[in-house]
Amino acid sequence: MIQKLLIANRGEIAVRIIRTCREMGIRTVAVYSEADADALHVRFADHAVAIGESEPTKSYLNIEAIVGAAIASGADAIHPGYGFLSERPEFAEACEASKIVFVGPPPAAMRALGDKISAKTLAVKGGVPIVPGYFEQGAGAKELAQAAEQVGYPVMLKAAAGGGGRGMRVVRNPDEFEEAFATASDEARKAFGNDAMMLEKLIDRPRHIEVQILADLYGNVECLFERECSTQRRHQKLIEETPSPFFAARPQIWPAMRESAVKVARLAQYRNAGTVEFIVDGSTGEFFFLEVNARLQVEHPVTEAITGLDLVRWQLLIAQGESIEGLRPKCNASRDGICGHAIEARIIAEDPARGFLPSAGRIVAWAEPRSPGIRVDGGFAQDSEVPRFYDSLLAKVIAHGSNRSEAIVKLSTALLDFHILGVHTNIAYLLDVLSHPDFVAGDLDTAFLSRHFADWQPGPVPEEMGALSELASEPAASAVTPRGEPRPAWTLADSFRNVRT
Ligand code: ADP
Ligand code: ADP
Ligand code: MG
Repeated sequence: MIQKLLIANRGEIAVRIIRTCREMGIRTVAVYSEADADALHVRFADHAVAIGESEPTKSYLNIEAIVGAAIASGADAIHPGYGFLSERPEFAEACEASKIVFVGPPPAAMRALGDKISAKTLAVKGGVPIVPGYFEQGAGAKELAQAAEQVGYPVMLKAAAGGGGRGMRVVRNPDEFEEAFATASDEARKAFGNDAMMLEKLIDRPRHIEVQILADLYGNVECLFERECSTQRRHQKLIEETPSPFFAARPQIWPAMRESAVKVARLAQYRNAGTVEFIVDGSTGEFFFLEVNARLQVEHPVTEAITGLDLVRWQLLIAQGESIEGLRPKCNASRDGICGHAIEARIIAEDPARGFLPSAGRIVAWAEPRSPGIRVDGGFAQDSEVPRFYDSLLAKVIAHGSNRSEAIVKLSTALLDFHILGVHTNIAYLLDVLSHPDFVAGDLDTAFLSRHFADWQPGPVPEEMGALSELASEPAASAVTPRGEPRPAWTLADSFRNVRT
């Protein structure tokens, strides 16, 4: 049994993991860099350990410092969150070597999936459809340029080690190839310390749909349905929802996609929570395996909303050796385990009016929306500092309604009632996106934002909410099932709970 958990992360995800630990009676250890000395996750945990300078490589990416902090504070397990070290097999191995439980998949599964080339090779072995392309370890510019001719332009060049949409370039014709290769591989080297590249045929106006899986230590694999994440800016997800509006008219896709996700998980001998990502051709409904994110995903709360399951709790239970067999009735192929509809929006510290420039600084006011069916996962509060060193995700707002239109109205209403002063945020931009007729109709693809919002500028504060006002007058369907997640008051974050070492 896990008694004390160290969270090797910061921001909203660290705070969110600590919440579940409190419910489970598990004591928590936060780690922090210099820039995060006063951060919310530090105040929220039972213990907090300084691990180094603000640069991620000197703190949140320093395996030795983090495992050292776990040993010094007597933690018996480590949760990596997402980003940072979460998908590094060496980190999981270092935990194992120190007899610390790593809350995530085993290193071998991470290795099999961590690299897009090996993940695709695995999918091919299982007969899971992949986007036609060229995946060979060690392929250079020349080899890939030749392959692009064979596959046929336009193509997508990708870093094998890529994540977060980085190291990726669309190449429309042979003339663009050289420059695209140089910039993408350079970006990959800087971001991942690895410039191995592969390429895929570019799918026109695709949808991004992914499957949440849970796998226990006994080989059981369950699918907690899908998430549609087609609302992306520069290949980065901005708004995510479940169930996918695309499935409504195509119920036959789910059983096949579910089977593919399970196949990949089994072949990789996957354990714990993970996400199998697919790209879907919106015109034909064909789907293709993209990659597996071997960790908890940013957008996991929408799945929690519609299933009533706490995914972090299940991650911890699985790591302790609990079987997931009991979840089977909830996760069956008939989809009757789905309750309502949930949508999440990412609140980012950036200025959409000025090229989405990241915004750092002190938050002078922070007032979260509170209403039925609304959950806020935030990593900041009034007087928090938003450091310039890390990802600029401030919070996620998750709305749960009995149907999609109800969830959209709830989310928009909540965003209007989320007040953050001191840094720029994308809230006004999100409100415009949510009220766009195509979004409201569920008519999405990954180019939706660039098509309609490339030159976005803030208008006057909206008095009536465009297409939303029509939805709002729709009769609301019967009661929304509460997710039953208690929201601990921020006052619990008082520093008396902290023992700093
Ligand atoms: P998701 O589907 O969960 O959003 P992403 O691939 O976008 O997955 O990554 C999740 C988060 O982790 C993002 O906030 C991203 O900026 C961050 N991230 C991704 N890769 C890395 C990395 N190698 N190092 C640090 N952070 C990363
Ligand atoms: P990352 O590791 O950065 O998340 P992915 O391979 O998962 O990389 O792709 C991220 C996003 O890029 C997808 O959600 C999709 O929007 C776009 N994308 C990826 N592959 C293709 C493709 N072959 N054709 C068109 N768009 C793609
Ligand atoms: Mg991805």
